[in-house]
Amino acid sequence: MGDWIDDCLPRAEAVASKGFCDHCLGRMFAKQGYGLTNEQRGRMLREALSDSGKDFAPADPCPLCEDIFPLLPRFAEAAGEELAKVRSDNFLIGTKVEPEIAEREKAFIAEMGLEDAESLKAELNREIGKLVLPMAGRPVEFKQPQVVALVDTRFADVTLDIAPVFIAGRYNKLSREIPQTIWPCRVCHGKGCDHCHGKGKMYPTSVQEIIGDIAVEMAGGKEHFFHGMGREDIDARMLGDGRPFILEISQPMNRFVDLEELERRANVGELAKFNSLHFVGREMVERYKAEAAFKTYRVHVIPEGKVDKQAVVSVALSFKDTGIDQRTPRRVEHRRADLVRKRTIHWVRADSVTEDSFDLELETDSGTYVKEFVSGDDGRTEPSFSERLGVQCKVETLDVLAIHYQEQ
Ligand SMILES: [Zn+2]
Ligand SMILES: [Zn+2]
Repeated sequence: MGDWIDDCLPRAEAVASKGFCDHCLGRMFAKQGYGLTNEQRGRMLREALSDSGKDFAPADPCPLCEDIFPLLPRFAEAAGEELAKVRSDNFLIGTKVEPEIAEREKAFIAEMGLEDAESLKAELNREIGKLVLPMAGRPVEFKQPQVVALVDTRFADVTLDIAPVFIAGRYNKLSREIPQTIWPCRVCHGKGCDHCHGKGKMYPTSVQEIIGDIAVEMAGGKEHFFHGMGREDIDARMLGDGRPFILEISQPMNRFVDLEELERRANVGELAKFNSLHFVGREMVERYKAEAAFKTYRVHVIPEGKVDKQAVVSVALSFKDTGIDQRTPRRVEHRRADLVRKRTIHWVRADSVTEDSFDLELETDSGTYVKEFVSGDDGRTEPSFSERLGVQCKVETLDVLAIHYQEQ
């Protein structure tokens, strides 16, 4: 153990001569002397210097840290008090060091070429963390902490940085009158105006709000954000097993939301239903957004003229594994770039066919414009159902029956 002390001694003399406290002296050699605190390390170096006839007493106050270390129990208590307000699996301590001290330290380390040093911030984080640990009643997590107690050392002031909680599940949208997500008024952007009758939004509720408002309340959170695996139009229903989504709750004071209770409460109404709720990590949001799941739809179609049952059935069958080119539809032209997308219709089945209407079930690639596949959108989708049938057809109602996605 003595070896590292001998190695460090000439440099330790230069550091100690500045009047540094044991913490700051030891920290300049933090990567030496395994298993010691900086304070122990500093004390050992000071003793070794003393043994060789060189006594350096710490100055009052320490010219580097200005005697911050005796304040640590106070910082820890303040952090412990704040953490007690939050229910989480883990925590981490962060500190805000006075910029002047941090600058001074950085310049000193560079000037003296102290390659084994660590920063005051790193030592404070660790040492406060050790003191908070027994109060916190949960382990420290370095990589993805659920809550960071940020100690501002200037004022012994603690702020909490709470990571959002992510709840995944599937939803059914049973109403053709509500959107998937909250739809702010385009005139007032949420403030409330004549256009939106003071509500700030265009629809009284949404799939997002039905579950999100309850989840925010249960989590003691601030806001909810909704990440659907795609979305259906307002007038479309989402049936079957439902569409995968992730609900993000910001600043949850309690991350241990009882998901069974949330599901029960969210399922009280008839507009939307929810199932398979489970917690996921933040990284799943991107995965859901990037997922290109196949979809199964059911559409009710009204032709402009009389149709022949046999013709409808055979046109449906003719689309087995058929590539189509879809130019950006007229109805979304104003918000999407005009380009041609290549999509595949996997299969189409016709049923309930009469002279005046019929139903189609079809499976398609993700991102297929189904209404336009049926209508042809004035030649912008090629080939289309209408084109092959030789009768102009229009989708009256659309339901999504399945999103083909399997969570790993
Ligand atoms: Zn010091
Ligand atoms: Zn408005």
